[in-house]
Amino acid sequence: MEAARRKPGGVVLLAASKAQPAEAIAALYRAGQSRFGESYVSEALAKMDALQLPDIEWHFIGPVQSNKTRQIAAHFDWVHSVDREKIAGRLSEQRDPAAAPLNVCLQVNISGESTKSGVAPEDLPALASAVARLPGLKLRGLMAIPAPGNDFDAQRETFARVARLSGDLVQAGFELDTLSMGMSADLEAAIAAGSTMVRVGTALFGPRP
Ligand SMILES: *Cc1c(COP(=O)(O)O)cnc(C)c1O
Repeated sequence: MEAARRKPGGVVLLAASKAQPAEAIAALYRAGQSRFGESYVSEALAKMDALQLPDIEWHFIGPVQSNKTRQIAAHFDWVHSVDREKIAGRLSEQRDPAAAPLNVCLQVNISGESTKSGVAPEDLPALASAVARLPGLKLRGLMAIPAPGNDFDAQRETFARVARLSGDLVQAGFELDTLSMGMSADLEAAIAAGSTMVRVGTALFGPRP
């Protein structure tokens, strides 16, 4: 944190708890962790149901299938992986109007063809405009998962490109406050490039069972 000249409070820790049992989440929660990220809807709902913990914030970080948007809109506080207007529209429509809007990050495909998930950088402004108009959603920022690689400078450069895309959107008038970047293997590079939220699984819980 200090190495990256970032303020300690400037990076939020999201515990990526997919594949971890409810007891592991409860243990971390008792230790003060309140934000958890899940990737599979039915697994997440089963754990929410078993845990029933107050003041916990649930983030959906996996690929969003259209037939799961209703459950995501009903049970999560954030979605980090919105990459299509159609999915955004469904989430907005299905969010309870009496609830706070669903916080949304747009997932950017920053490493080209290495992953099918994420909006292409050139299509990002149009998607951001569409999402910002949806009443059930609050556009918070961008999320990216770079292709795996161990070189710190390459990781940081990739994350810096995401940060620049975010800066461009802010310049264009979007009010963004979140850069969801960094996992166990690349969180230092992500923080050095301006991440505000790291999604950490293995480094917190140990290997997924
Ligand atoms: C699993 C997962 C993580 C956490 O990965 P680790 O390498 O275990 O830290 C972060 N983000 C997303 C989207 C994930 O699916």
